[in-house]
Amino acid sequence: MAQELKRRWQNYIDGGWRDGADGDWIAVENPATGETIAEIARAGRADVDAALAAARRAFDSRELQDVRPVERGQLMFRIAREIEAMADEIALAECLDNGKSLAGGRNEALAAARYFTYYGGLADKVEGRMIPLGGNYVDYTIPAPFGVSAQIVPWNFPLQIAARSIACALATANTVVVKTPELSPLACTFLATACERAGVPKGAVNVICGYGHDAGAYLVAHEEVDHIVFTGSVPTGRSILKAAAERIIPCVMELGGKSAGIVFPDADLEQTVASTAAGIFSNAGQVCSAQSRLVVHRSVLDRLAEMLVARAESLSIGPGIDGHDLTPLISAPQAAKVEGFCLGAEQQGAEAATGGRRIESMPGHFMQPSIYVGVSPEMTIAREEVFGPVLAVIPFDEPEEALAIANGTDYGLCAGVYTRDLQTAHWAANRLVAGQVFVNEWFAGGIETPFGGTKRSGYGREKGQEALLNYVQSKNVGIRIAAGGGGRPGG
Ligand code: NAD
Repeated sequence: MAQELKRRWQNYIDGGWRDGADGDWIAVENPATGETIAEIARAGRADVDAALAAARRAFDSRELQDVRPVERGQLMFRIAREIEAMADEIALAECLDNGKSLAGGRNEALAAARYFTYYGGLADKVEGRMIPLGGNYVDYTIPAPFGVSAQIVPWNFPLQIAARSIACALATANTVVVKTPELSPLACTFLATACERAGVPKGAVNVICGYGHDAGAYLVAHEEVDHIVFTGSVPTGRSILKAAAERIIPCVMELGGKSAGIVFPDADLEQTVASTAAGIFSNAGQVCSAQSRLVVHRSVLDRLAEMLVARAESLSIGPGIDGHDLTPLISAPQAAKVEGFCLGAEQQGAEAATGGRRIESMPGHFMQPSIYVGVSPEMTIAREEVFGPVLAVIPFDEPEEALAIANGTDYGLCAGVYTRDLQTAHWAANRLVAGQVFVNEWFAGGIETPFGGTKRSGYGREKGQEALLNYVQSKNVGIRIAAGGGGRPGG
């Protein structure tokens, strides 16, 4: 299958495909085998300059702003159709450079297309309001785009994440420079192809791949950038915010998580196990909203742990291309980091009920599905984001204690409640400090539901109608209709 993938991939700048200005290439590895399967042009500073200049020109041309929003929506529907038409090619790229299964890669493509239809449908519904100032005035607000939006994408779901931010930007007539992840860049180039084929104005969407410390850092500190959308780790988010602070520009920060599901004694345990397996083992746990902690009432702890272990041990492990349940981690350093968390947990007194080690006998970067019991809330494995298929199970006795544990990390991305009792669900959902709470099904929700963090998990929302609010700023226009009036400065 690998032969079907193009060997050399380029950046998309100002409506054209280009090698890097420095002539360098980034090797792209298949995480399931460790083999280099392709290379992508490395964008350096000159490429960032060119992409931003193109995005600025496209914004200043007002081509996107001046059309009727419904036409921007139709343009986005065409992008969605182009993505759907390439779903099989995208699935293969996601499978080979990211490790996902073909089905998972195809889902990525279809979800990316859905972002363009969802936000395309909203493009003509981003409305201002009329503000009454009496008969002598007309006053209204315009939801105005920021200008050039710089978007930085992580490697775990590169296509979906790039699609959700580009779609919001286009719906609101911003122009975009996207820096795709150096570890899994291929699928995002299909977004550029879709934009090109759909007739997106030249320069309105630019897709480049470069290293974070180089092209990424240069991009976010660039004076041509008016707005930043970052999805990635807390340390990178912090450094981007510092760059943004220098120029006082707005940011959306979608950062990491250490999300907990609370299992009350009346929970449906079968449902809890199925939901937890999806929550921590899908995409090999490399999910920002993974359910990496399970806070379990002591009365059901042993039974649930036994069921979870059985579930984990039933998973098939292997390359996504062969349709396995548990696919590889993205890189050797990531696998070493995940295993390091497991070794640290054992040193701190947690017990591996199953797993805990890399699978050295397989090529690629595979990790055993791992469940730790005997975990206490202060252990590192209960506090820090592992970003691998590793679940920390923590017992509780009283509901307030469960809440304190769930809320007791620096993160606040998602949270969950397993119970048959509606009152308990509401009680907990109201008190959990998280941007999204799932009841009885981890990842309940979708493109339509707002998603984002509290605390160190970031701020701003992606997905849902709320996301569009991050891409516009309100401009007020006050008009004196009747003759007279000298204006009232101040206030
Ligand atoms: P990362 O922060 O290392 O990298 C993310 C992106 O930032 C990459 O494109 C990288 O090249 C770029 N980058 C790195 N240093 C940079 C710099 N100084 N300036 C500008 N850009 C820079 O994160 P990662 O390892 O790729 O992704 C995993 C992290 O992303 C996890 O913490 C995960 O929770 C988080 N994440 C969050 C969400 C969300 O929606 N909240 C979604 C997916 C992943």
